[in-house]
Amino acid sequence: MIVVHRFHIEPTKEQEQKLFQTLALCRRLYNAALKQREICYRQRGKPPSCTVQKNELPALKKELPEYKQVNAQVLQDCLQRLDNAFERFFGGLAGYPHYKDQVHYRSFTYPQADKQDHFKKPGYIYLPKIGYVKMKAHFEFDSGKVNRINVKYHNGKWYVNLTSEIQEAEAVEIVNKVGIDVGLLTFAVLSDGTKIDNPKYFHKSERKLARLQRQFSRKKKGSNNREKAKAKVTRLHDKIANQRKDFLHKTSYGIVQKYDLIAVEGLSVKNMIKNHHLSKSIADAGWGKFISYLEYKCLKYGKKFVKVPPGGTSQTCICGAHVPKDLSIRVHNCPECGLIADRDVVSAMVILQRAS
Ligand SMILES: [Zn+2]
Repeated sequence: MIVVHRFHIEPTKEQEQKLFQTLALCRRLYNAALKQREICYRQRGKPPSCTVQKNELPALKKELPEYKQVNAQVLQDCLQRLDNAFERFFGGLAGYPHYKDQVHYRSFTYPQADKQDHFKKPGYIYLPKIGYVKMKAHFEFDSGKVNRINVKYHNGKWYVNLTSEIQEAEAVEIVNKVGIDVGLLTFAVLSDGTKIDNPKYFHKSERKLARLQRQFSRKKKGSNNREKAKAKVTRLHDKIANQRKDFLHKTSYGIVQKYDLIAVEGLSVKNMIKNHHLSKSIADAGWGKFISYLEYKCLKYGKKFVKVPPGGTSQTCICGAHVPKDLSIRVHNCPECGLIADRDVVSAMVILQRAS
């Protein structure tokens, strides 16, 4: 199973200059390779293949020595990226490849990161031709498994996306089981009665975001102050996104450590967002991400992950009786078996029951 971890990096001024230069040179190469394909196609009815273009890189370095400052793998990947764009186009999955301006060329990739030790120095990542760049890994990851490093510039900050392949662990014996119900009022409720709330700082950040957005909309269009206000809004957006990911990682890790079988409802989060006026809080809650984090952590630690058929979990009792209730009724009270409990806890119990 392939996973991607994103961490913030803090290049020095000098390193940042090199990073920007790498982006600029890659972008130039990408656009030149696209142009070459178009010219050859017009002249000979056949564009050069990706391999042909890759084989021309040494000649390019002779002609334009500045390209020696970019890692060879990175340049190869840049041409591969163009080839992939064409493949998507011919496969009907995307439009015709565009020439890229600065705004749309924001990352480059070391495609064979496993060939070199990039994580020898604690707190740093080694990026060939750039140097040891300070990296904040806000959770533990298996650096030996990283096989691809993508460096990205986003909203004034630098990040690395580390791709690794997680080996599935051998299945553990199933002793403890849990069902999880995701909700709007509480982030998630477990069948053992545990309630997981959205962290308080989400609300704090959200209020701050609303305030910044109001300030932004009051600024005159095209003014410097408006740009500044916009930058503030994006920065906070990023901060909230990172806080949320952190929360989702920690929460899913805790559950996977504690339980051997984890059952969730196979909700179509996408459809819920489309159809619901509560779309914002659903998207904010990040359930889709949460469920995918649970799933890959289960694989990693040999735990069993089960998605049960959705629907009706809030209207059913574990005894099988139909117990209808609308959203305002918070307590489940079964007339048949007499079970009285929090409605979300009962839903989580029903989810677990469906998985067993
Ligand atoms: Zn019942």
